[in-house]
Amino acid sequence: MEKITKRPCLEHITPYVPGKPIEEVKRELGVDEVIKLASNENPLGPSTLAQKALKEFASKISFYPDGNCYYLKNELASYLGVEESNIVMGNGADELITLVGLAYLNPNDEIIMAEPTFSEYEFSARLMDATPIKVPSQDFRHDMKAIAAAVTDKTKIVFICNPNNPTGTIVTREEMETFFKEIPPEVLVVIDEAYYEYASDPKYPQSIEFLKEGYNVLILRTFSKIYGLAGLRIGYGLARENIVTDINTVREPFNVNAVAQHAARAALKDEEHVKEGRRINEEGKKYLAEEFERLNLFHLPTEANFVFVDVGVDSRKLFPKMLQKGVIVRTGDIFGYPDFIRLTIGTHEHNRRFIEAFEESVKELKG
Ligand code: PMP
Repeated sequence: MEKITKRPCLEHITPYVPGKPIEEVKRELGVDEVIKLASNENPLGPSTLAQKALKEFASKISFYPDGNCYYLKNELASYLGVEESNIVMGNGADELITLVGLAYLNPNDEIIMAEPTFSEYEFSARLMDATPIKVPSQDFRHDMKAIAAAVTDKTKIVFICNPNNPTGTIVTREEMETFFKEIPPEVLVVIDEAYYEYASDPKYPQSIEFLKEGYNVLILRTFSKIYGLAGLRIGYGLARENIVTDINTVREPFNVNAVAQHAARAALKDEEHVKEGRRINEEGKKYLAEEFERLNLFHLPTEANFVFVDVGVDSRKLFPKMLQKGVIVRTGDIFGYPDFIRLTIGTHEHNRRFIEAFEESVKELKG
């Protein structure tokens, strides 16, 4: 039988490696108590207001969702101080990363991204047969000078992950401002702020100001992290109206489901949940930093809800040992750092269990 011919660009796409699900570990290893510190989810779970809203909404799911997300956009607009016409909703920020490529990238166009950073920018480019240009980071931070210098006539989009996944480092307001002056104004700068709510450094930019100043930006945010709604798949982009229109043109009509819209509205109002999420993150950050110092491990100061740490052993060997003890982490090899792990900051109990399992696992590995 004749085989259908796939698009050649598919050859260059490596599938996304998700964090190992809790149920899979329970099933495969027969471990009862499993904690997942691999996908930067909220260890507190979803807001109780969102859970309540979900239950109340169950009887309405026979209707299609509002494809325009009217109420949610309206509430987000007043919460953020932007116009509704500046907001585009996505099935997670992930979908918006794909859609921005679909809207703007032609074959052989270039996108620029740091290395290491979130892999989905490359996916978006490859899917459109465009070329990802990767700019090595300096001391684990985006090298904004080198990124600006890498811009060519072919550059359509620059992706800035801020705070950066997996390093937890930030690009400062000053660095962003200088960067905007150095690049041609028609280049679109996608600022991925999936971890925005966790950043506490005063030098972290309030990027909505860049939007208001008229720069060509698309700011990405999500309900998956601090709002604890990763399973519902909902995120948003903030940009000038023409960019919002272009992305709306290529998205599916009902890309954000009704349940997600409803839960996100409730989560947005649950300020206590967000506050508590930030509080335990700060507490966990401090605890883990102290423990890593005690264990003499190189670790990066983080502005997000995860830490990138050099564990001094091959993380691919450490991973199964940790799984046996019911702790799922993310190995650094996928980011080009096999001796590192990326660890989601959990509750105090999670973090304590991680340290205990880690020390035991390293002992076992070193014999
Ligand atoms: N951007 C970054 C930097 C992320 O780490 C993630 C989640 N892994 C996303 C975007 C995607 O988030 P969402 O769940 O909203 O698709």
